[in-house]
Amino acid sequence: MRSSLSVIVLILLSAALGAATCIGIALAAARWSPIGPPLRGIVARERGPLWDASTVSGRGIQRWHITRQLRYSLPLAAPMRLKAPHWLPFPEGDTRSYMSEMEAVGAGWPLICLHAENIFDIMNFSPTARVWRNGYVIEHGSTVQPFTAIVVPLGPVWKGLIVNTLVFSAGWLAFMVVVGMIRAHVRRCRGCCTRCGYDLRGSAGARCPECGGRIRSQERGHHRIGEEQSATSQSQSPP
Ligand SMILES: [Zn+2]
Repeated sequence: MRSSLSVIVLILLSAALGAATCIGIALAAARWSPIGPPLRGIVARERGPLWDASTVSGRGIQRWHITRQLRYSLPLAAPMRLKAPHWLPFPEGDTRSYMSEMEAVGAGWPLICLHAENIFDIMNFSPTARVWRNGYVIEHGSTVQPFTAIVVPLGPVWKGLIVNTLVFSAGWLAFMVVVGMIRAHVRRCRGCCTRCGYDLRGSAGARCPECGGRIRSQERGHHRIGEEQSATSQSQSPP
């Protein structure tokens, strides 16, 4: 009963540490990850308008800048097809307005798990109109390319949050199991209870007098003090 409880505690602890690692990496990437050079291209929304896009990415971070193309504007010199990620919310814009624009930041590793964006109509553009949603702005930076705003995204991308948390939880669980095995091995070699570390040399019972856990024969056997030996003489320790 006790061991099944400790398994549950171990799994919950791994899940909590996994979730904290997932969020921590995303926040740190948004704040400090170096950003690579921008790509320019177009993204096509299904049955919708074309969007002129540039994206830059770094470790665990993507920044998108998307502009709805002017209806009669010339196409880009060498348009590159960029695939828009699922977390990117396209600006709906005002249909009377011929242009709208968006900046978006996504962070997380291995998947993007947090996002923030800034959507506005260019027609109604004013610097104060650039209000970030779902994000904490550290530096507003430049509003012309390359955009240098540092925004820590806080909007959840559920798929990324779940996958990343599972990945890191599995890592933490494996780490804690290995640490537990090493600790149990060290305790066994010292002739101690593998559960609580109580010194079992000299105790003859089938259970640890400290925690009540069952003593496996090798715990005492490792120390080469057999039950019959320790019963006769405790001072006879091996060389
Ligand atoms: Zn014990």
